[in-house]
Amino acid sequence: YHAKRALKGVAVYDPEFDPHSPTRLEIMGALRRAIRESQLELYFQPKIDLLTHRVTGFEGLLRWHHPEIGTVPPVDFIPIVEKSNLIYPLTCWVMAESIRQCAIWRREGHDITVAMNLSASNVTDERLLAELRQLLTQYDLPGHCLEMELTESTIMNDPERALTALKKIAALGVHLSIDDFGTGYSSLAYLKRLPVGTLKIDKSFVMDMLIDEQDEIIVNSTINLAHNLGLSVVAEGVESQEIYQRLQDHKCDSAQGFLIARPMPAADATRWLLNSQWSGGLP
Ligand code: C2E
Ligand code: MG
Ligand code: MG
Ligand code: MG
Repeated sequence: YHAKRALKGVAVYDPEFDPHSPTRLEIMGALRRAIRESQLELYFQPKIDLLTHRVTGFEGLLRWHHPEIGTVPPVDFIPIVEKSNLIYPLTCWVMAESIRQCAIWRREGHDITVAMNLSASNVTDERLLAELRQLLTQYDLPGHCLEMELTESTIMNDPERALTALKKIAALGVHLSIDDFGTGYSSLAYLKRLPVGTLKIDKSFVMDMLIDEQDEIIVNSTINLAHNLGLSVVAEGVESQEIYQRLQDHKCDSAQGFLIARPMPAADATRWLLNSQWSGGLP
């Protein structure tokens, strides 16, 4: 996939665009340059099976290495890009990196998946679906090795259209997850109709579950809800052994968080796969 090719013809038109906001313009221009000049990097954070204590996959998380500012976290640019047409080439870049890296790891013998995050407008974008098909073929990666994470608001924005679009993605074998579950509003009536396999409990509930009884109730109820609907559950933001243990007690399926590892560049993730207590070591 060539980001340059995709960037040609991208008109950054946005009805909400404020022409008097230089920061907005600067970010957009700088980001177009970032894709062109390879300032973007996908970091990878492992996800652990709470029964086996072994890695099952990584989540790809975007980083922007700005030549002057340094590393820019996604919260500082994704919300802006999401409101423009640039979100398409950006997500294509992430998708290509996720698929390419997953194919490399699998060829090296690691039985893992890679998850990527989708923005609202990506979900119903037919171009993205075509690109996804093309990339899976190009890298010879089975669809089930890729996961896509969406938030509740992304889906509930236009649930009928999202449902139709998600069915097409799921038909490729791609595993769908609801990210940050509990923070948005979502209709359970839609949730059960969606081709989703996993709920990821938002880290705000997980991080405080030992000190805030309400948060523990939310975590526990979400695990039960998910299991009753036949879904698996990932807890995000697992920072301590105590929380890891408590999640196990509540029969949560998987854990992701700083306790296990911070998001890291692909080369570090490869070393981590070979050396960590959470991975099986050499395949
Ligand atoms: P997310 O998808 O919910 O990703 C999890 C975030 O939690 C990541 O932040 C990760 O670094 C952070 N995290 C993981 N474990 C812990 C922990 O134990 N403690 C704490 N305090 N934080 C933890 P990050 O990388 O800054 O990404 C923030 C958000 O930006 C993501 O939330 C996702 O919504 C968005 N994002 C990141 N990469 C992409 C991308 O490629 N495309 C899109 N559309 N969104 C992305
Ligand atoms: Mg995510
Ligand atoms: Mg999340
Ligand atoms: Mg989040």
